[in-house]
Amino acid sequence: MDLSLIACGLSDVHLTDWYGKQVHKNIVSDLKALSRASKQAGFDLAIASAFRSFERQASIWNGKFSGLRPVYNIDNCAVEVSTLSEIEKCQAIMLFSALPGASRHHFGSDLDIYAKNCLGHGQSLQLAPWEYLHGGPFAEFSLWLDENLAEFGFFKPYAQYNGGIAQEPWHISHIATAKLLEQHQSIDVIADAISRHDVLGKQTILANLSHLHERFITNITKV
Ligand SMILES: [Zn+2]
Repeated sequence: MDLSLIACGLSDVHLTDWYGKQVHKNIVSDLKALSRASKQAGFDLAIASAFRSFERQASIWNGKFSGLRPVYNIDNCAVEVSTLSEIEKCQAIMLFSALPGASRHHFGSDLDIYAKNCLGHGQSLQLAPWEYLHGGPFAEFSLWLDENLAEFGFFKPYAQYNGGIAQEPWHISHIATAKLLEQHQSIDVIADAISRHDVLGKQTILANLSHLHERFITNITKV
């Protein structure tokens, strides 16, 4: 297995099916145990998003960079990307969406989860912080995760906003599996993947990659 290709979303040899979602083979037994324990605690754990390929991430990125998909600021207000310089556009997008090649969803070890049975009748999943905070439908589930994730080998890499990626209380990561792949998601590997694909803002990204890497990619909440 070429871990660099896996780390930047250009390979799917590490994946297996988990109830219709693609996840890293090495997380299955811990995910099964986590899911079972959460069920016993009264939460029906469901996955909103698991593995995402480089191509998929590039299509999200290009949609936002070109203004076809909305871009939001930290207060959830829409940003008019046409008024921004290229580097400002990159930074605005990276608050909520990873650079292609730099998403933790490429690993297959990282999942966006929610508790299916806690959604109210007719309520649809938003993946917005308020749902997971005090008073939200998944507040209790989120607290349960905070207390129990480590026992099953998982953590929340975006538990707090640290000036890079916004708070994502729904995003969990399998510690051992992600740690190995993080090491292979280096500046050089990401630069190589971006330079070989259609990614809008390519020259600006490549020129600023070490800064973007430090602020948005390695800047996670520690285990
Ligand atoms: Zn996520």
